[in-house]
Amino acid sequence: MKKIIFVLFCTSLSYSTWAQYNPLTLGIVIPEQDTVEYPFSRYRVAAHTDPNAQAFINGKKVQVYSSGAFVDMIFPTEQITAIEFMVALDGDTVKQTRYLIKPSTSQELSSEIVELHSGEVAKKWFIQPILDPLEPDKWYGPGDVIPILAQGTPGKTLSYSISGHYLNVMMHETNPGMYEAYHKVDTYTPLFEGPIEFSLKGKWLTRSKASSSEIIKVGGLPIIGLVNTSDAYLNIGLGSDRLGGAKYGSIFQGVELTIVGEQNGLYKVALSPSLHAWIPKRFVDLKQTFDLPSQSLSGNIRIAAISEKSVHSQGADVITVSLPKRLPYITYTESDPNRIIVDIFGATSNTNWKILLDEASGIDEVRWVQVDDDRLRLFIDLTHKGHWGYHVEYGWRGQMRIVVKRPPVIEEALMPLKNRIIAIDAGHGGRNKGALGSTGVMEKEVALAISKKLEELLIEAGAKVVMTRTDDSYLYMSERAKIVRDNHAELLVSIHANSIGYATDPRKMSGTGAFYKHMAFKPLAEIIYNKMRELGLDDYGLTGSFNFTLNAPTDFPNVLVETAFLSNPVEEIFLLDPYYQRRMAQQIVEGLEEYYTKYAHWSNDSLEVYK
Ligand SMILES: [Zn+2]
Repeated sequence: MKKIIFVLFCTSLSYSTWAQYNPLTLGIVIPEQDTVEYPFSRYRVAAHTDPNAQAFINGKKVQVYSSGAFVDMIFPTEQITAIEFMVALDGDTVKQTRYLIKPSTSQELSSEIVELHSGEVAKKWFIQPILDPLEPDKWYGPGDVIPILAQGTPGKTLSYSISGHYLNVMMHETNPGMYEAYHKVDTYTPLFEGPIEFSLKGKWLTRSKASSSEIIKVGGLPIIGLVNTSDAYLNIGLGSDRLGGAKYGSIFQGVELTIVGEQNGLYKVALSPSLHAWIPKRFVDLKQTFDLPSQSLSGNIRIAAISEKSVHSQGADVITVSLPKRLPYITYTESDPNRIIVDIFGATSNTNWKILLDEASGIDEVRWVQVDDDRLRLFIDLTHKGHWGYHVEYGWRGQMRIVVKRPPVIEEALMPLKNRIIAIDAGHGGRNKGALGSTGVMEKEVALAISKKLEELLIEAGAKVVMTRTDDSYLYMSERAKIVRDNHAELLVSIHANSIGYATDPRKMSGTGAFYKHMAFKPLAEIIYNKMRELGLDDYGLTGSFNFTLNAPTDFPNVLVETAFLSNPVEEIFLLDPYYQRRMAQQIVEGLEEYYTKYAHWSNDSLEVYK
């Protein structure tokens, strides 16, 4: 083995010998496999070769970029569409063909339905449950309707039972052989689960039985769930996009939630009669109870100040609200004027409970309003110019604490980032490759390269840098967030490169973008976005309410930078270029300097410079 490596090393010393042993290459990036199922009528392809070669896709000559990348769109019309890639250089050619297949529909089932709809009588008595309308893993709570459908021998009596609770309920035959029922779940049905069982009767005897392969869960509500971890968060909806659904924000351990349903691995939580949220099941321990959650009175609001020596390097102000137990809450932010809004569910306001402490210099005022019977809303107006993060926690039992961080203090006017703790998150890593460039470069590699240059430049600017990863390791989002928190970073920048889907022409989508979720952190995203645009990149845009996991924390300002499009062959050239990577990093550093200069506090020493 060692010998072979040695021989290869020697031959690489002479270029002509090297070229001789390295024939023309063709690397196909999209489609990723020889055969791909694809249902739509537009499909982008991407590949790479020698930059001096000519490239053809299905016989059509396409541009080869200086990186060797080439791309095109194809328009599949047939059941099977062949895509032939060919590259040519100095009389050499390399060809490869890949195939797109339109996914087949379940023809077997539909032909059976057609047969039955035509009125033909099946020879044997049979029942076939149709599970399509049942939603997987759904818990059918009070008032929910369970759609129950089956095919069976036409003209008979078909009935269903669910786990011995609902017994032999008749179904309607809507078409010959098609039976239907819509079962509404009663309000006070105890929780049970089981399959749907069908039985088909002739005049006297049951002639056939069948069971659904799926188990359904019915009734038994409401149930109290206790949040069992400090990583928990509430989702706004069921959320099935790749980012995992929009989030209200984190929710503290021990909070009591009223669970009223279940679907796709999430519990449905009633915050108020008209407002629901969802929470991943793993974050909740259930305790079944028949007591409805009681209305709670809020006690004193106390606004206190935490000293500089607290865990937060920049200090914090704390607002304390006494509640009889750990009630659920959601929070929002507003910018200009800077404000944090906290909705507490199950709480009713009490009078005369405001104490303002002078030391709480970051808090201007706290106001409250009873939004409806069981929703109390707190408005917390801040004195500082920017938002530097906050979180809600519970202290002893129902002591709600809203911890609002103060702005960090600039130590030296000419070095606004000196001693500031800034976290950099290089997107993806390990098995999570991210987007793919046409040259085969992976987003995780580009993100790490830019992040390392950003780290270097930030250290030069005097900052203390926290990296979520420095090599090709795979990290869960929760691990990344933990690294940021454990190192008390004041701020987080996530580095990514963008990509389009399969149905868009990669040459037509380009530009730099910045993403944030909370209004509080829009100024940070905006400043960095404008700095990136100075490089002459197209404008992809500034996007708010973005649902990326690392944009969800409220306890430090955060931004996701989509530097440029890796799927665009021109921007891919920039992203591959170490010089350009450094320029991008430099723009981000300048953006951070601007952000701190505008929104951090100035110490008296640092102001001296201007006197
Ligand atoms: Zn990414």
